[in-house]
Amino acid sequence: MSPEPTTPPNTVRVPAPVNAHSHAFHRILRGRTHEGPGGGAGDFWTWREHMYTYAHSLTPRLYQQLATAVFAEMAVAGYSAVGEFHYLHHQNDGTPYGAQGSDAEPHAMELALGRAALAAGIRLVLLDTCYLQGGLAADGSVLELDETQRRFSDRTVEAWLERHGRLATALGELDAGAGLLTLGAAVHSVRAVAPADLGKIAAGLDPALPLHVHLSEQPAENHACQAAHGTSPTGLLQETGLLGARLSAVHATHLDDSDIQALGAARAGIVMCPTTEADLGDGIGPARELADAGAHLSLGSDQHAVLDPYLEQRALEHAERLRSGKRGRFSPAQISAAAREGGLRSLGLEENDDFLVVRTDSARTAGSRPAQLPLTATAADVAEVHINGQLVARNGIHTRLGDPAELYAAFFTQNPEFS
Ligand SMILES: [Zn+2]
Repeated sequence: MSPEPTTPPNTVRVPAPVNAHSHAFHRILRGRTHEGPGGGAGDFWTWREHMYTYAHSLTPRLYQQLATAVFAEMAVAGYSAVGEFHYLHHQNDGTPYGAQGSDAEPHAMELALGRAALAAGIRLVLLDTCYLQGGLAADGSVLELDETQRRFSDRTVEAWLERHGRLATALGELDAGAGLLTLGAAVHSVRAVAPADLGKIAAGLDPALPLHVHLSEQPAENHACQAAHGTSPTGLLQETGLLGARLSAVHATHLDDSDIQALGAARAGIVMCPTTEADLGDGIGPARELADAGAHLSLGSDQHAVLDPYLEQRALEHAERLRSGKRGRFSPAQISAAAREGGLRSLGLEENDDFLVVRTDSARTAGSRPAQLPLTATAADVAEVHINGQLVARNGIHTRLGDPAELYAAFFTQNPEFS
């Protein structure tokens, strides 16, 4: 063990926050969500088309380069761990990496993310995602996978469970005792996995693993679920046996009272992504009511319009103020707990000693009591980031990888198709 580090003057030491929901490649779309087709503003669904175009262009080599930059930016900002909700599994035609005739290794995309996390020194919980169908139409009919979605799919839930089991071994070998890489699981959404397959996941997936799902980000997906199954996405997860304490619902945005009570009674996790939900115009979920009902809140940066654990925390309370007209819906201690303890719980991580050293004498934080930092600090005030016993970042610079801005500059310069 290294000796206890001393804290520099005019700083405080705080437990490091956790990023419970990430799609690393969505970082490419930062600043572009106002652009719709034909010069219009677009909506969530046009943004999704835009995102699919980039998903189609990523190879394991490119994804490792991009994710290294994203995880470095995340670590420098103060995140100690990330739940990567990962569905870019296969080659574009749907063939698995490592299959006969493929020159890539098995699990090539998953290992690319693992190597990126090891390089950045951040804890990665790889939420390998089951994604089997293209979606639900407004009338509830099932849509086939389109050309881009083919690489998301294992074709059958049995094939996903089988690959998921092998991935645990491959990820463990890559981690090689570093203690940074673990495997979790996800269901993309009730749009992407049929009820019978949700039931098979409830029965067949190791119950010790954390399980995440996109719940109700858009009213249209609730309507399609009602049309297809006669219940809400929350109701369907309950019926199929997936609603429970190990489940984390991401984007609990458009819920009715019975959804809120069911999630609370199950002691489910709720991953709020307030900066993304604002950026995409998703709406504001009932975070206070969910917490009051018994659900456990955590926070995620999702598409990384913002990578700043302090701004994400603040956005949770600000969204509550905007929807309720009241202040103090969450205390600073409660929003810090969502970012830290809620995130650890959601990702199935043990308590650890990861911590930040935060400046209390900047223009933003001067005059704040330490307990007020969630309402005043930003990532620019993070002087040091310590993860897994290592000093990973200091004053915005990664100790091994340097300035994340230079990693991005290299990625976008070398790969102009993403600019
Ligand atoms: Zn997401």
